Parts: sequence; structure tokens; C-alpha cells
Amino acid sequence: MSSAVLCQSSSCINGNPPSRMECPTCNKVGIRGSFFCGQECFKAGWKTHKLVHDFVKNPTSLVNVGKSVDSYNPFPDYNFTGTVRPVYPLSPKRSIPEHIPRPEYAITGEPVSELNEGGAAPRILNVTEIEKMRMACRLSREVLDTAAAHVRPGITTDELDEVVHNATIERNAYPSPLNYRGFPKSVCTSVNEVICHGIPDQRILQEGDIVNIDVSLFYDGYHGDVNGSYPVGKIDEESEKLIRTTRESLDAAIKICRPGALLRDIGKTIEPVARANGCAVVRTYTGHGIHELFHCAPTNVPHYAKNKAIGTMKTGMVFTIEPMLNLGTNWSLVHWPDDWTATTVDGKRSAQFEETLLITDTGVEVLTGKVPEREM
Ligand SMILES: [Zn+2]
Ligand SMILES: [Zn+2]
Repeated sequence: MSSAVLCQSSSCINGNPPSRMECPTCNKVGIRGSFFCGQECFKAGWKTHKLVHDFVKNPTSLVNVGKSVDSYNPFPDYNFTGTVRPVYPLSPKRSIPEHIPRPEYAITGEPVSELNEGGAAPRILNVTEIEKMRMACRLSREVLDTAAAHVRPGITTDELDEVVHNATIERNAYPSPLNYRGFPKSVCTSVNEVICHGIPDQRILQEGDIVNIDVSLFYDGYHGDVNGSYPVGKIDEESEKLIRTTRESLDAAIKICRPGALLRDIGKTIEPVARANGCAVVRTYTGHGIHELFHCAPTNVPHYAKNKAIGTMKTGMVFTIEPMLNLGTNWSLVHWPDDWTATTVDGKRSAQFEETLLITDTGVEVLTGKVPEREM
């Protein structure tokens, strides 16, 4: 399948997410199979012209290139496990309007209350707190769905960050990842072999990629947290199966949630679904409690079988389940030198889905679920 090729001239696109075949600046229609959108764009930059020629000769040359010809890989000596590369410079830090309340780490980067929580028991939220969680989670889902609607070949992960950032502040909410332990952006975007915590940068999403978008936001004192993995254009069957299996494993885990169920049985439910479909379950990162604190007790909600998590689900508890599944049998991971981006060790792809859940008297409410699910 050959996809619509968008004008990639930095002087044309100039930060606008391309949504059509026409160049958004000069409004000329691109010639299929090339990056030219017309004389004016061509004239605008010789460096871009050179890039176009390189692309025509070798269509994979742009796989890890951003929209600016001045983009670069900040870790040229790092031994990458797959084909995805960071494409810097990162865009400048996005600002938050004055009137939006911030979580405590917004300035210093340190989530002090989380660090002081120690081995506290999971909190049971009261009716008022639950109502606030519902709202924060509903807004998180809206923002995730907004970002997902922008996924297409030609958009950069930094542009997805901009979409998330703007959709979040429009709702008078703060994007929870921004400056959390120093994270530089408003959302995590994890492409192909990146398992989680990818930093949005200038890399252009390519037809055939998969991307996870992990949205969390802080509204009226409470955090919501939700993520999903999405195909970029047409993807191969293996990647489709990975995404489907990951979603199925999360849904199976949600089904066992009710008062009295054991936290450790979540992993016992997820891992067989993964294994039966040729996937391994990541162990290093787990689900977590969430309310006024972004990450809190229960601090460890493992997604793998035979885990030793202690604790029983109780009415009024809120936590996330967010399985990360790798293609193949290797569940381990490595980090890029940015200390955030976690990738598979063998370069195989990884997918993730996450929901924030409330344990109720009768079972479970998916606080971040799509609206029809929530009303069931
Ligand atoms: Zn998340
Ligand atoms: Zn989470």
C-alpha cells in the first residue's frame, strides 16, 4: 500500500500538523511519491531539497528524521536496540495559564508527598472524592481520544504533545507528566520498541508504526490516568495482534476486579492471555494507586503471573491496571540515556493499554472508560 505522501518541507509545514495532501502553507497539492508541493516550497530551502532527493533514492532515510533539517540524535554513541531514534531538539517547555491549579511537583519536579507516603495502606475514597476522581478521569479520556484522532503518518510526537497540552489546559487541567520527576513534556509517546515513557520529540510518525499515548491530568485536586496504543496508517498483522492482545489482557484483568479479589490475581489473569498470543509481560513497570497523588498505594499492581503483591481490593479503592506486552518472550527492558525512554532489549515491538479503576460494592467502575462503558 502506498500512502499519501505529505509535503515535508520545513518551510511549508512550519509546525502545522499536516492533515491533507495539500501543503498547508502554499496550498499546492503534493505530487504523489515525492515531497514537492510546488515551486514556492522548493525555492524555500535548498537543504530540504537535498533531503527530498535522499528520500526518493532511499525511502527509509527519513524514518528517524524530524521536520526540521537541523534535527539531530542527541545520543549518537548509544547502542540502540531497535530502529527508533530520538529526534532533537525538544520543543521549548509549554506554558500553563496562571489560573490552572498545579500539583506540588510542578515547580521543583519533586513529588514530595508521594515520597513521604512510605508504606501507607491504600486509601478508601469517600463519595466527594470519588466524584472528583470521576471528573478527572473523564477529562483524561477525552484528551486521550482527542490525541488519538490526530495519529497519522506525517505528524510528529511533539505535535501530539501540543494537542494533548492544549486539550488539557482548555479543560482547566494540568498535564500531570509535565515536570513530574523532571519529565519535560505533557504526555508520554512510545513508538514501536519503546515500552513506555517516551519523550515527545521531532520524530515523524511513519506508516506502519505503532504509538502509545499515555495521558494523565490533574483537575480539581485529583489525577486521572489512561493510555492506549494506536496504529499509524496500515500496520502489519503481528503489530495488530500485539495491540489486540494487550487490550484483551487488560479487559480480562478488569473483569476479575471486585471487593475481596486479590491484587496479585491481576497478573495471574494477564500473563496467560499474553503468552497464548506470543507476547511477554513487562515486569519493571506496574499499575499504581492514584487520587490526589499521581502514584500512591497500592504502589505495585504487577501485570505478570506468580507475583507477590499483597492486598485485597476494597470498595472505594482506586488504582490503574496498565499492562505492557512485548512481542516474543523477552520481558526485560533498557533505558535510553535520557533516563526515561524504556525499550525492549531485542528491538521487538511493545504495546500498552491503561485504565483507572474504582472498586465498587458490586464490582468495578472503569473511571477512564469510554462513556457508554462507564454508564453500563
Ligand atoms: Zn498512564
Ligand atoms: Zn499509570
